[in-house]
Amino acid sequence: MHAIRRLCNRYGAWLHVDAAFGLLARVLPKTKEYHNVHEGVGGLELADSIAGDAHKLLNVPYDCGIFLSRHLQLGTEVFQNSNAAYLNTASTETPESTDRIIPSPLHIGIENSRRFRALPVYATLAAYGRDGYRDMLERQIHLARGIAKLILDNGEFELLPTPAGSDTSPDAQLSQIYIIVLFRAKDGALNNELVRRINATRKLYVSGTQWDGKPAARFAVANWQVDVERDLRIVEEVLLAL
Ligand SMILES: *Cc1c(COP(=O)(O)O)cnc(C)c1O
Repeated sequence: MHAIRRLCNRYGAWLHVDAAFGLLARVLPKTKEYHNVHEGVGGLELADSIAGDAHKLLNVPYDCGIFLSRHLQLGTEVFQNSNAAYLNTASTETPESTDRIIPSPLHIGIENSRRFRALPVYATLAAYGRDGYRDMLERQIHLARGIAKLILDNGEFELLPTPAGSDTSPDAQLSQIYIIVLFRAKDGALNNELVRRINATRKLYVSGTQWDGKPAARFAVANWQVDVERDLRIVEEVLLAL
């Protein structure tokens, strides 16, 4: 990120980060367990702008994106409703005082009318706070890593991506996992049907994808209700039945 930032500075480029899922990882404790995850979201603060999705790991209803920008003034220059008297807002925000006054959303973004999306975000942050979200995210990571370990320990399945680099131990592989678990069945015929058969149980839902030109399946853990032991039992039952 530092190297990219330097290039952006040199050539006048805008550095945007799509942190739909990654943003919340910054709430994790700085322990060895999460070292790789922290590396993955390192240097976010160097971006010009960051997009995040509250409707993913903050578990608010859909359609609740977050756009963070260092360049509020640019937003104001582009989106200011300049000369329609009926669009005047009561506040007297100016670019110079933006650190003190909350600017009207009417003048900094593309939408004029919008739902009060900030309300559920505010409510959930106020209700759970940093500690509450850390706990939720840790449970989700523990479930994802638990699923990955089931796959590693089972000779019929293959955890993806195949480990590269010097340390290819199971622990090293597990430590890379955040909330997505990519895998396939070693048996080609089963693998072609894997997603359909898992989803047909109606106990789990996985999505299909391709890896190295072959079908693969992915678990995406994203739910505050995760109970690691209870949910792992269900995953194990379904995978063993296959
Ligand atoms: C979900 C996701 C998107 C799409 O965002 P939506 O606001 O849900 O449409 C974009 N990028 C990444 C990395 C995502 O995970």
